[in-house]
Amino acid sequence: MTCDYIELALPGVRQLTPYQPGKPIEELERELGITGSVKLASNENPLGPSLRAMDAARGVIEGISFYPDGNGFALKAALATHTGSTPSQITLGNGSNELLELVARAWLAPGREAIFSEYAFAVYPIVTQAVGATARVARANPADHAMPHGHDLDAITDLINADTRVIFVANPNNPTGTWLTRDALEAFLDRVPESVIVVLDEAYFEYVEEDAYPNGMAWVGRYPNLIVTRTFSKIYGLAGLRIGYSVSSPQVADVLNRVRQPFNTSLIAQAAALAALGDREHVAESVRVNREGLVQLVAGCEARGWGHIPSVGNFLCIDVGANAGGIYQALLREGVIVRPVGNYGLPNYLRVTVGTSKQNERVLAALAKVRGA
Ligand SMILES: *Cc1c(COP(=O)(O)O)cnc(C)c1O
Repeated sequence: MTCDYIELALPGVRQLTPYQPGKPIEELERELGITGSVKLASNENPLGPSLRAMDAARGVIEGISFYPDGNGFALKAALATHTGSTPSQITLGNGSNELLELVARAWLAPGREAIFSEYAFAVYPIVTQAVGATARVARANPADHAMPHGHDLDAITDLINADTRVIFVANPNNPTGTWLTRDALEAFLDRVPESVIVVLDEAYFEYVEEDAYPNGMAWVGRYPNLIVTRTFSKIYGLAGLRIGYSVSSPQVADVLNRVRQPFNTSLIAQAAALAALGDREHVAESVRVNREGLVQLVAGCEARGWGHIPSVGNFLCIDVGANAGGIYQALLREGVIVRPVGNYGLPNYLRVTVGTSKQNERVLAALAKVRGA
């Protein structure tokens, strides 16, 4: 090999660190020669997908020799009703991650800037850097704040300048699980110039039950620079199918649709997502299991004197003191996969996805065992 293909790549790409996904169960079991492990590392739904979504997926399987509907007519119509918008405001993505990437491709470039918070979702820096734009990282709330490590919207607005094109805000945020109130976000949206795109990432929207937690869809008509993203990967239990969506002004949706691949969401994903959206019982049951599971995990931490970041998502960051990496490895040997978040700047924490009551019990017991507590 006479060429260095890394050297030949775009400057932003050269410096990228690939996204680190949660370890797949099959990989762990292959490596350790064990069975019966549990994965609570990627915020997947422990109840699995809706039965109606699986039936719908099976129902379209014979049609996979055809391209999917590139405009996603049926799914967009249902999402428009679901979100109180129109199909022209909706963009479908191969997971909501793809929508984040489309935003970067459409509005960011070298010389342009994106703002996001410290401890924010890892995909924001990746998509920003991949297109050579500059990332401005806003200081997060301090550790002794009511929302420790959460977004500080004032710190974000302080970083806005003439080169700012995009702001990424996660509500609630992953991995911290912290959230922003309706009043705080509305005041923020009022302050951001219309020329700056605000991406409000609501991947965990369906889980949140706080009264002061806002529905971003209610603002899309008022703020033409706002893009609200949601996903079928979390509460709907369809992470393996890769489908998410955004709602924005029609003109912003038009831009996103110019840069997306014509068939970015599959036939099976569209059919399953449509059915999942209609299965209100599955969503309600998932919310209930998550609410009880969070209480169980928090109680387990408090009983043992472990710190944690208060979360409204389907995950909890547990403070394991020093050496979270070693504890993560020891948990793997117990057949329990969680997520280290040192790459987020939270080296003392492990992020645990809320599982079934049995799974939560298992992770707490395993953690107690490996910590010798
Ligand atoms: C999981 C997650 C997503 C998106 O995941 P997709 O599977 O690509 O839809 C987006 N934002 C946050 C904050 C997440 O945690």
